[in-house]
Amino acid sequence: MKILITGGAGYIGSVATEMLLQAGHAVLVFDNLQQGHEAAVEPGARFVRGDLRDYDSIAAAMRDFTPDAVMHFAANSLVGESMRDPFAYLGDNVVAGLNLLRAMDAHRVKRIILSSTANLFADPLRLPIAEDERIVPGSPYGESKAIIERFLHWLAVTRGFRYACLRYFNAAGATERHGEDHNPELHLIPLVLQVALGQRDHISIFGDDYPTPDGTCIRDYVHVQDLIAAHILALGALETGNRIYNLGNGQGFSVREVIAAAEVVTGRKITVKLAPRRPGDPARLVASSDKARRELGWNPRYTEIRTIIQTAWSWHSRHPKGYG
Ligand code: UDP
Repeated sequence: MKILITGGAGYIGSVATEMLLQAGHAVLVFDNLQQGHEAAVEPGARFVRGDLRDYDSIAAAMRDFTPDAVMHFAANSLVGESMRDPFAYLGDNVVAGLNLLRAMDAHRVKRIILSSTANLFADPLRLPIAEDERIVPGSPYGESKAIIERFLHWLAVTRGFRYACLRYFNAAGATERHGEDHNPELHLIPLVLQVALGQRDHISIFGDDYPTPDGTCIRDYVHVQDLIAAHILALGALETGNRIYNLGNGQGFSVREVIAAAEVVTGRKITVKLAPRRPGDPARLVASSDKARRELGWNPRYTEIRTIIQTAWSWHSRHPKGYG
């Protein structure tokens, strides 16, 4: 198939490009390089540097490449930033999604896989979180994804779109070729590994008074390769209907457990400092991925936090400056 990947120079999109090329598909990466890295664009992919806020540039890419399907990764994706700058999210993310969908409609491209988020579930009634959980976006970021999910619903009803919304919990880990390189880095695992590399002197633990066994927040870390495996399965399943899945590995690990695992993997002491809670952090977020396992035959390979961190450590120690 021919697949257009928005955000293909970013962390998850670059792994998607790598795995789709390996599977024999043709890929066009569409990325504005605002957060992505040119060095992360797979050499086997076509690359268009373009911005989704500009309808004409995504429409031209759609017209020239005539993809069979789109995977939409490009977005502003920081929960905390979205609370400070809602316009970059309820504005830019929604406008970008709208332009992409309009360009698809204009060029009769009907299949799309959307990266969505666990931030749809800020106040879950049940854990682990299943697809029928009520949607309560936790931030303008989560709301921007909820809006695009609803767009897809109505484009399916009115225009024959086929879609899958994949709600990631905490994407983590790396492949041999691609890893996490954000500027500034705010995510737990790469920050902990930067401490191991001597690039930071400590990691702050944001709160140890949560109602969890060790008092620190629990998250569901899912390996980026397992996430993309789910995208490829979902793409194949669109023929038989639209899809919505929560993707995690079904196990939660606390901040302290992540740090302890990183000490074992790296063989280095990680200095921690206690810091106040980060506003908006729920105590525990764990996905139920039963539906994806049952319907797609998805079977995540990386279930241990140590092996997930091992893959990230392998990439970070070979790329201490990231892609730079
Ligand atoms: N966290 C932390 N210190 C940091 C960064 C993150 O204690 O420097 C915690 C954060 O409060 C959350 C977990 O680590 O409970 C994962 O945070 P991350 O930002 O990686 O992902 P999120 O869960 O916010 O999507």
